[in-house]
Amino acid sequence: MDLGIRGKRALVCAASKGLGRGCAEALAEAGVELVINARGAEALEATAQALRDAHGVPVTAVAADITTEAGRAKVLKAAGAVDILVTNAGGPPPGMWTDWDREDFIAALDANMLTPIALISAIVPGMMERGWGRVVNITSQSVKAPIPVLGLSNSARAGLTGYVAGTSRQVAEKGVTINNLLPGIHATDRADALDGGVAEREGISVAEARRRREATIPVRRYGTAAEFGAVCAFLCSVQAAFVVGQNVLHDGGAVNATL
Ligand code: NAP
Repeated sequence: MDLGIRGKRALVCAASKGLGRGCAEALAEAGVELVINARGAEALEATAQALRDAHGVPVTAVAADITTEAGRAKVLKAAGAVDILVTNAGGPPPGMWTDWDREDFIAALDANMLTPIALISAIVPGMMERGWGRVVNITSQSVKAPIPVLGLSNSARAGLTGYVAGTSRQVAEKGVTINNLLPGIHATDRADALDGGVAEREGISVAEARRRREATIPVRRYGTAAEFGAVCAFLCSVQAAFVVGQNVLHDGGAVNATL
């Protein structure tokens, strides 16, 4: 399917690896010019070059911490007017509800709620003026079904979800859609780190920890960044113009719910 976005310009945050990279790849494949971001300059530049080589689109790499004000200013300056925004950042650490104090919550809210809101606030007005835009926020299946050890993530992402629910309906008449894409377990460094934590806590191998988690997913495997990116690119397509304020699960059926 031609997604109708060839020649558009996208900012994809936290995109040197994992799900962000998957989204960048799929948008590049659709002919979208990219600005990509991550903190580590070396891996980011390697990804930018791989995208240029594979898809022949211009790719600007901006090394910065997107969760800081200075980092966002640097990224937004380089990005300029963009048609597509994919927000993403690392997830908060796991733990017990008794582990966290106010500062831990402030850090999680800053990274996974207030950062995407700041990016939306900076970029969406221009999209509305130009009469077209797509925003996809990478959140988590934990928005629909809490993951107890990820209490910081559950809390911050629920806040962003509430914001998007209302805001998406305020901007839709100007041709701008805002939706959230909710990953279940995907084979990325983040998933490896979580498996490593389980292995250590339960005295099992990382492979066994993964096998046990795969068994909880109806598809019986982890998702891939490429599959995730393809759904993200569809949400950014011209065809998805009537999809507004939705929370799209990409979890292999893991969340056991009717709706
Ligand atoms: P990943 O494989 O660890 O990749 C994270 C990417 O984000 C890297 O490119 C990293 O590069 C960049 N990054 C991290 N923090 C950043 C920051 N502050 N500023 C700019 N770039 C940053 O992680 P992932 O699995 O793709 O996860 C992406 C998001 O989806 C996370 O929020 C995660 O919690 C969520 N999620 C993932 C899964 C899963 O199964 N993978 C499931 C549910 C939710 P640098 O380190 O160089 O900055």
